[in-house]
Amino acid sequence: MQALVVDKPEAGQTARAAFRDLAESELPDGEVLVRVSHSTVNYKDGLAVTGRAPVVRRFPMVPGIDLVGVVEASSSPAVKPGDAVLANGWGMGETHPGAYAPKARVKPEWLVPLPAGMAPEEAAAIGTAGYTAMLCVMALERHGLTPDRGPVLVTGAAGGVGSVTIALLSALGWYVAASTGRPEEQGYLESLGAKEIVPRDRYAGGAARPLGKEVWAAAVDTVGSKTLAGLLTEIRYGGAVAACGLAQGMDLPASVAPFILRGVALLGVDSVMAPRALRLEAWSRLAQQLDRGKLRAMTTTIGLRQVPETAEAILAGRVRGRVVVEIG
Ligand code: NDP
Repeated sequence: MQALVVDKPEAGQTARAAFRDLAESELPDGEVLVRVSHSTVNYKDGLAVTGRAPVVRRFPMVPGIDLVGVVEASSSPAVKPGDAVLANGWGMGETHPGAYAPKARVKPEWLVPLPAGMAPEEAAAIGTAGYTAMLCVMALERHGLTPDRGPVLVTGAAGGVGSVTIALLSALGWYVAASTGRPEEQGYLESLGAKEIVPRDRYAGGAARPLGKEVWAAAVDTVGSKTLAGLLTEIRYGGAVAACGLAQGMDLPASVAPFILRGVALLGVDSVMAPRALRLEAWSRLAQQLDRGKLRAMTTTIGLRQVPETAEAILAGRVRGRVVVEIG
């Protein structure tokens, strides 16, 4: 089968993905063989395919952290041939071959049943980005934050996580402000539910002082680094930021002032190793609460052959919303 594969590089070379024939015997042992119908391109896939960061930790590796498909063979009682399933993370595309191939062999406990009424391409359009967006929303809710507390800021707004987060929070009744470096996407962001556009530059330079004026009741940050440090200074008393990303960088040049003087909370969100119960809750809520029309409007569909160029584009911040990859 034709697959996108990262083979072990020669000494001094970068590990980049290339198309080649992959034998089923090259897939690892595992209880479930899935016929992959769709995958996606997330920021992390961009890193794995281009080799821009050491995401791939075993060779040969099939990148693709999101998988949607149908079970072809199973030795587990948990799933049976013909089941429509999805999987996100769990090290797929990093330490375990992922979804940029017609078949994948995975653990049964990684698989979530495709929610009733959701098409495979919709599940792929949501993918890790959308499921992470829902985890961020759930983190804010667990902290007791509700739309009546004030406005919420979403950074990296025109990206995958940002786009789904805006659609979800606006559907839940929040006043959503979208922070973007692409002012030309104003109309797009407003169509998803954003009420206000905040230029990326407002926070990209970092924290001007330990505390700023109290503006946001909450935030979902996909950018990290100085942006997160800057926006923390403008979170209202008792508010919280769900932090899931590092598009600007992994560092956090912040002070403790927002935490110890305003009781602000920084809520870390991880999708890769999130427990199954949380995933099932997130996917059930996505099935009910994400507007499918908005999901379609934020989605572009490509073939597997276009993944390498799309990987470059997502790292350059040129991809809008979500990308679905048709595999089989
Ligand atoms: P995208 O590339 O689709 O979105 C990232 C967005 O961030 C861009 O569209 C852009 O938005 C903004 N951005 C890009 N570069 C910069 C920069 N240098 N400074 C400030 N803003 C920038 O990626 P995803 O939505 O797939 O992922 C977003 C982030 O979340 C990534 O860092 C990813 O690794 C992380 N992530 C983490 C997960 C977890 O489990 N914790 C799961 C999924 C993603 P705009 O043009 O609107 O400014």
